[in-house]
Amino acid sequence: MGKYFTINELCVSGSYPKLVTVPKAGTTEYKNLERLIGVLDQIREKWGSAIIVTSGYRNEKLNNAVGGSKTSAHRYGLAADIHPKSGSILDLAAQIAESGIGFDQLILEKVTTKNGKITDCQWLHFGLTDGKPRKQILAWNGKKYTPAKLHITKEFSISNQ
Ligand SMILES: [Zn+2]
Repeated sequence: MGKYFTINELCVSGSYPKLVTVPKAGTTEYKNLERLIGVLDQIREKWGSAIIVTSGYRNEKLNNAVGGSKTSAHRYGLAADIHPKSGSILDLAAQIAESGIGFDQLILEKVTTKNGKITDCQWLHFGLTDGKPRKQILAWNGKKYTPAKLHITKEFSISNQ
């Protein structure tokens, strides 16, 4: 599959592993996952160390179980929830934002803020679209979504882990 990611890595659930299914090769969902993997590979390459996927493709049952929206890009294999194994998740978000990648949505999930500035988040929702990518960057504080601006805060180190 990809250089770094596999279809199986994109079909996971921490909370409901028994509900996970892998789309059949040739289906729209499978093709979308292949496209998503291609983009995640670019992100991983640039980041320089491991990126963990905690949720990717969700069939209807799984999506309902996790409380995902009916139109969630996860349903179509077009979104992944990610975080870096090491390093700052906000730096990863900033790098994706400034990468030129045509993402639809990048959402900083469950952010913590201090004096109105985002200081941390739990995971990143990275979504693609079939249509024109909106390149929307949002922050979710557990209650509402607000637009977020990101800047790279430090140099990135490259490693082979
Ligand atoms: Zn997500």
